[in-house]
Amino acid sequence: MPSDFIAATAPESIVARERATLAPYAMHSADSRGRRHAEPPHPYRGPFQRDRDRILHSGAFRRLAYKTQVFTGDLGDYHRNRLTHTLEVATVARTVARALRLNEDLVESLALAHDLGHPPYGHAGEDALHECLAAHGGFSHNRQGLRVLELLEQRYPDFPGLNVSAEVLEGHAARIDKHFDAGNLIEVQVVEAADSIAYDTHDADDALELGLLTLDELLEIPLWREAHARLLKRYANLQGKTLRRALLHELIDWQVSDLVAQAEHGIAVRGIQSATDARTAPTVVRASEPLLALKRELERFLFDRVYRHPDVLRLREQAQASLRAMFDGYTRRPELMPERFLARVSSDGVARTVCDYLAGMTDRFADREYRRLFMK
Ligand code: MG
Repeated sequence: MPSDFIAATAPESIVARERATLAPYAMHSADSRGRRHAEPPHPYRGPFQRDRDRILHSGAFRRLAYKTQVFTGDLGDYHRNRLTHTLEVATVARTVARALRLNEDLVESLALAHDLGHPPYGHAGEDALHECLAAHGGFSHNRQGLRVLELLEQRYPDFPGLNVSAEVLEGHAARIDKHFDAGNLIEVQVVEAADSIAYDTHDADDALELGLLTLDELLEIPLWREAHARLLKRYANLQGKTLRRALLHELIDWQVSDLVAQAEHGIAVRGIQSATDARTAPTVVRASEPLLALKRELERFLFDRVYRHPDVLRLREQAQASLRAMFDGYTRRPELMPERFLARVSSDGVARTVCDYLAGMTDRFADREYRRLFMK
């Protein structure tokens, strides 16, 4: 991460409020390293509040509504898309952040931005673009997220990208090489953990709704069995959808409570007393070992039974074939892209530019453009 940031002064009202309410190990706005491009301070919004607002008002954020989470194709309206997943991550992360007295504005910014770089068709789309870009450095949604934040969103006359604070870029950059074992702000650790809680729970719920799994099968997995045992202490006889919903609440509440307790313990044991300490310490926001083992077992089950389900794989093939055809088509005829992408070809090369254009597409826009321009 380059260090060319220009520090700015946070409004005194925000600085005082954070001093009074945040823990000493939280990231305080007054200590932000600033932004790449100088901007006058806002009279009453702190830097991370502004970051959150910029992310939420971006085009890339709105397009998350029409991007696949796991299940591509027209499978109905119940299951999560990238936007609802993102909001679920944000709400879990804020709960943890408030319990630990962390900077909720920074946590929310990181959570709302965490999947901004996802291409259409979920991980199927990501894998297809990675192959297309094999000779040009490859593709990863986390790297792409950084390109969106720093370059591709064009909303301000004075600079490219959203010019978010250094700490938002730092937190997002940690996702690229998954260095989550040590060296991150506690706010960054919280968002990573919240993402895991959200997708483990919701992918199982979506798979149930789609009929890829049955509740009885899930109740044989130790994590769900244990959640059921906890529920039985409070409710003698829950059935069907009522049981399923109660299980989801229990699973999230259990994991969040475990995370908060683990984090409080880790912060105390490691003697973390500042954001600087957090950046040099091992990760403290992580599930307890027994829960982590249960989560891994669920993830293995979901991998085999859901992510590799024949229906999911069939749609994955279709999505990848259309993305590859579009990549070839736009590479041969870049003039089919909008002007603002065409203008990037000379600096970024045609392959990377086509990839930027494709990655920004929603599933339904990609479907439409594929049919309109490239379907044989
Ligand atoms: Mg996510």
